[in-house]
Amino acid sequence: MRDSIPSGSLNGNILVIGGGIAGLSAALEASEAGYDVFVVEKKPYLGGRVAQLYRYFPKLCPPYCGLEILFRRIRTNPKIRYLTMAEVVDVSGEPGAFDVDIRLNPRYVDLEKCTACGECAKVCPVERDNDFNYGMDKTKAIYLPHDLAFPMKYVIDDSVCKKLECAKCVEACDYDAINLNMEAKTIRIKAESIVVATGWKPYDAAKLDNLGFGVYENVITNVMMERLAAFNGPTKGKIVRPSDGKEPKTVAFVQCAGSRDENHLPYCSAICCLASMKQATYLREQIPDSKAYIFYIDIRAPGRLEDFYTKVSQDENIVFVKGKVAKVEEAENGNLVVIAENTLTGEKTRTEVEMVVLATGMQPELFEVKLPIEELKLDDYGFANFESPGIYAAGVAMGPADVASVVEQGTAAALKGIQIAKR
Ligand SMILES: Cc1cc2nc3c(=O)[nH]c(=O)nc-3n(C[C@H](O)[C@H](O)[C@H](O)COP(=O)(O)OP(=O)(O)OC[C@H]3O[C@@H](n4cnc5c(N)ncnc54)[C@H](O)[C@@H]3O)c2cc1C
Repeated sequence: MRDSIPSGSLNGNILVIGGGIAGLSAALEASEAGYDVFVVEKKPYLGGRVAQLYRYFPKLCPPYCGLEILFRRIRTNPKIRYLTMAEVVDVSGEPGAFDVDIRLNPRYVDLEKCTACGECAKVCPVERDNDFNYGMDKTKAIYLPHDLAFPMKYVIDDSVCKKLECAKCVEACDYDAINLNMEAKTIRIKAESIVVATGWKPYDAAKLDNLGFGVYENVITNVMMERLAAFNGPTKGKIVRPSDGKEPKTVAFVQCAGSRDENHLPYCSAICCLASMKQATYLREQIPDSKAYIFYIDIRAPGRLEDFYTKVSQDENIVFVKGKVAKVEEAENGNLVVIAENTLTGEKTRTEVEMVVLATGMQPELFEVKLPIEELKLDDYGFANFESPGIYAAGVAMGPADVASVVEQGTAAALKGIQIAKR
């Protein structure tokens, strides 16, 4: 059902917090079993971080194929109501009868009227960093979150928009879709059970001061590499060095950048080895005379993903180097020097490359931004690894995992939610 203030009954069986792949899987499974579901998503679009990936390991297919299928199921399913730009601000009651207050933040664009024609953005004089592309390019203050956004509707960033002082977008819109006076609203819904699927954010690479992120332009992170390779990314899919726009012929991938480190993320983020192997294939496919070095402590490729590791390691221009990276420095010619220590032999190596990709780990969104749910117990790292009647977690909110695993967790959480709703 359309994203707007829900009409009709505000009674739902299940409330899903987080519209990423785990939350959407939970919502679809429950609704297709006949239950009424609300999905609350804080961003202006559904799909979560997966929407920002270029391809999926191990098959290397585009994530959008899978997401499109989910969106089609949502479009045709009156049992799901989703709210974007929405946040849970209060939860009271008990399993079987929760009262949930949800704040709907203003989009300033009417979802019914906007046709995504883009005339508004053409006249907007203000720019902002494009968070979808991790700040590697800009959008206007009124913007479409990305080319394949669901819902495909514009939104205004009110932290930079000049609102009524400017209002050029209002004049440009033939559909009367923009309302600069829109305000936040709070609605109350009822739910019998709650699924928490709030996902993750990339660990802040600027905290890794030995690895040069934010100091050297050509040190980027793995999530930025996904956007560089993506056809709808800041370079329209061309992998280039940020400093000079040149194709990098040599790229070092630094594993465990912050992960398995007591000073940063003490746990393994589970997917980073596979993500770097996948990104090495992006490089090799696009720049045939390129070479990738993957600096690792241990390679983690659980279960059948070992096949992907075997396949990738057959390319002699993807070189696996056993070594913990101690430092990244800039060479006089503007290249980067990766200084590593072999963890078995103690040998030190210096490798000159044209670009460095830090394989930063996944940190739960809940680490910093807590939900107002008393029963929600988090572990020391912020993961919702717990069981409480009526409240269930799914996806990376529970712990680092790949997409196939979080889809299963979403399905499991839906089943638990249904058990409460059936009582
Ligand atoms: C570099 C990289 C590459 C990867 N590549 C692959 C790959 O090729 N194959 C693979 O299987 N996996 C891959 N992964 C892992 C994959 O991204 C995750 O498994 C997936 O994103 C988990 O989905 P999720 O729904 O749990 O979380 P998310 O994708 O983070 O979705 C959570 C959603 O909840 C929303 N949210 C958060 N807090 C709130 C709140 N308080 N209120 C409302 N909404 C909220 C967020 O805005 C988001 O939309 C990769 C990860 C990285 C870091």
